[in-house]
Amino acid sequence: MNISRLAASIKESPTLALNEEARVLRQKGEPIVHLGIGEPKNKAPISAILGSTARLNTGEIKYVPTDGLPSLKKAIIRYTEENYGRYVAPENVIVTTGAKQSLYEALFAVVNPQDEVIVLAPYWVSYPDMIRMVYGIPVIVKPEDGSFIPRIEDVKQAISSYTKAIIVNSPNNPSGAVYPESFIAELVELCESKGIYYISDDIYHKLVFDGKTAPPAWKYSNQDVENSHVIVTNGVAKLYGMTGYRIGWTVGPRRIIEAMTNIQSQITSCPPVVSQSAAEGALTGPQSVVENLRLTIQNNRDVLMQAMRTFTDVITIQPDGTFYALPDFRAYNGNSYELAKFLLRKALVVTVPGVAFGMEGHLRLSFSGTTKELNTGVERMKWALDPNAPNEIYLGDRKLIRDWM
Ligand code: PMP
Repeated sequence: MNISRLAASIKESPTLALNEEARVLRQKGEPIVHLGIGEPKNKAPISAILGSTARLNTGEIKYVPTDGLPSLKKAIIRYTEENYGRYVAPENVIVTTGAKQSLYEALFAVVNPQDEVIVLAPYWVSYPDMIRMVYGIPVIVKPEDGSFIPRIEDVKQAISSYTKAIIVNSPNNPSGAVYPESFIAELVELCESKGIYYISDDIYHKLVFDGKTAPPAWKYSNQDVENSHVIVTNGVAKLYGMTGYRIGWTVGPRRIIEAMTNIQSQITSCPPVVSQSAAEGALTGPQSVVENLRLTIQNNRDVLMQAMRTFTDVITIQPDGTFYALPDFRAYNGNSYELAKFLLRKALVVTVPGVAFGMEGHLRLSFSGTTKELNTGVERMKWALDPNAPNEIYLGDRKLIRDWM
């Protein structure tokens, strides 16, 4: 079999193998607790469901403009005004099939072969591979040990004459960190002064806890959207807990949006119209859905933190946003893949190895599920790892004795 060099360079997601093993175990009836998946449990908002069913009822399920339904773009323009205080034209907006496609197309639009794109660790798994898929080179900037926020000096050091863009995701998947205002302000200033594109992945920007907010990049740019180097991606997946509809968008300078539209026209023609009507319904419907989801997730965060505090030798930095925490398990095992495999096989708990996010020795725990799953998951992990935890446990209705310590 002769697959291309590019295809061969794209790795299988390290989470896939473990997820598949978990799926097979669950199918066999094993009581798996899944702390791996990043999607809220809520049903899609009723306004989204009504939007999509209204579209289905017309029977007019056809191609629509490549850059998105004009009425959805209008809702995105209003969202941009209300949430960012920026007034943009329809030509500054493209609707995509998930925020994922937005990010890929934005990179496609600005990166030349061998251009460098700075990625801040810990980072979302897909960034480095997306950069490679446009023949760019990911340059990872890691924080000082123990922190989830890199230093601005280290970002400056990583910039070269080949640097084309930086991807910034705050609130951050996988750490739950919200980058401080001063950091965002300096990054934006750095990018605008050097002509580097600042790709802001805002997919979690409303999932922030304790009355805090995530400082938006545009706030620190003196330029209008047309002349700014800030490109903002967002979507309905996490905001409304409607991941399956697959609708995201990008707002940025029209030349970039036009390039992304040309790329999209050759890949998918347009995002599915039924999904676009659902996204429009969500954006124009009651916004209490977002706040309810945020409160549920904040409560889950508190439950997880309380459980993790009793876990000897595991350091958990409290997440300020998203639905992920990234505890440091190095006291038990420095190899996160091995540890995740061990926890799946012994304790039937699914976690994601930190190595996938550039943070070896950590595990990503998702708290988007139920509080029961969180408490059970942590109890099982403690049983498997912590010699101070009781050495008997019930996994489902099976009583197990820890015999490996
Ligand atoms: N960015 C980040 C940081 C994410 O975590 C995700 C989803 N896991 C995405 C982008 C993609 O979002 P979508 O489902 O809209 O493609």
